[in-house]
Amino acid sequence: MFKKVLIANRGEIALRVIRACREMGIKSVAVHSTADSDAMHVRMADEAVCIGPPASAQSYLSFPAIISACEITGADAIHPGYGFLSENAEFVQIVEDHDLKFIGPTAAHIRIMGDKITAKDTMRKLGVPCVPGSEGGVPDLESARRIAAEIGYPVIIKATAGGGGRGMKLAPTEADLESAFRTARAEGKSVFGNDEVYLEKYLQRPRHIEVQVFGDGKGTAVHLGERDCSLQRRHQKVFEEAPGPSITPELRAQIGKVCADACAGINYLGAGTIEFLYEDGEFYFIEMNTRLQVEHPVTEAIFGVDLVREQIRVAEGQDLSFTQDELEINGHAIEVRINAEKLPNFSPCPGKITAYHAPGGLGVRVDSALYNGYSIPPFYDSLIGKLIVHGRDRPEALARLERALGELIVDGVDTTVPLFHALLAEDDVQTGNYNIHWLEKWLDANM
Ligand code: ADP
Repeated sequence: MFKKVLIANRGEIALRVIRACREMGIKSVAVHSTADSDAMHVRMADEAVCIGPPASAQSYLSFPAIISACEITGADAIHPGYGFLSENAEFVQIVEDHDLKFIGPTAAHIRIMGDKITAKDTMRKLGVPCVPGSEGGVPDLESARRIAAEIGYPVIIKATAGGGGRGMKLAPTEADLESAFRTARAEGKSVFGNDEVYLEKYLQRPRHIEVQVFGDGKGTAVHLGERDCSLQRRHQKVFEEAPGPSITPELRAQIGKVCADACAGINYLGAGTIEFLYEDGEFYFIEMNTRLQVEHPVTEAIFGVDLVREQIRVAEGQDLSFTQDELEINGHAIEVRINAEKLPNFSPCPGKITAYHAPGGLGVRVDSALYNGYSIPPFYDSLIGKLIVHGRDRPEALARLERALGELIVDGVDTTVPLFHALLAEDDVQTGNYNIHWLEKWLDANM
């Protein structure tokens, strides 16, 4: 059993992990940059170590700084949160080489899923349905032309190393293919250091449906249903819910089993998310994230499980604390991402919080590292909190979301809260009638 866990992250997710550790009787160590000396995770953890200057590359992404912090504090394991080093196979290898435990999958699995071409190939072989497209990488423009003509336009060119919505370019017609191909390649090279690209059919009106999976690393794996994260801006999620309004219990059981079996088949360890586009009753795999996701609380709400606790347990070598049959859905949950951003352009808006009040009451959860007087530093991402609501059904969850948003006070910086008030007034949001392009179109028309 772990005695002390170091959290290689900041913000709300660091608090999330500290909370799970405390309930399990495990000591927590926060690490922080000089810009985060006054951050909530530093105050809340049992111990804190300053690991470098504000730039992430020299602090939250610095292998030697984080490993040294483990050695100084005697931590036995590292929880990476999401982002930063959570999907860095090289880091996982180094953690293991130092006789520390990484709370997450093996370096080998992270490596497979971190390369989208290898991931797709692996999933296809495990029986998971994929988006039609190139078999592997596309070496040159000529091949791209040939494959695109075969599968039909529109197509999307993706960098195999891409992520966070970067390294993807749409080619609506053949005339656009050359520039999409070159731009995706250049972005892959400059942002991710890898210019390999592949090609997929571009689906016109799919929903983004992702399945939460969990493996014990010993061949047992379960699924915890799906989340619908179709409301996206620039391929980034802003509003997530579970269960998916379009998914029937039969469909859930079917795709859930495919995903759990695939994870069992590779002895997957820890939490993972298998992402699909879903259109006309068909699922198409796009990628697998080998970490805890930002939107994991909606799954926790409807299943009543603590996913971080489960991550820690399986990393210690314990069995999962539930079987597939014991996992039952209860009600409906919605999460909105509150970013310090100025509408309508969503430009980052760091600054000092002059007043903060979190909503409460039945079925309301706020995961945030904000406090009165806190100064949001300009160096990191703009997520400042997540509001999660849980109701007996979708209408109750929506009403609760509106009520909770009304109670929330964040003064001193602009936030994305007005966006959610406006979205809740839309019939399509109330009825769950949207696909991955809905929000972009709505923003064009309304902001
Ligand atoms: P990233 O790793 O950057 O998040 P993904 O492959 O997960 O990239 O895709 C992110 C989003 O991009 C999806 O949720 C979807 O909105 C859009 N997308 C990706 N592939 C396709 C496709 N073949 N057709 C239509 N939209 C797509």
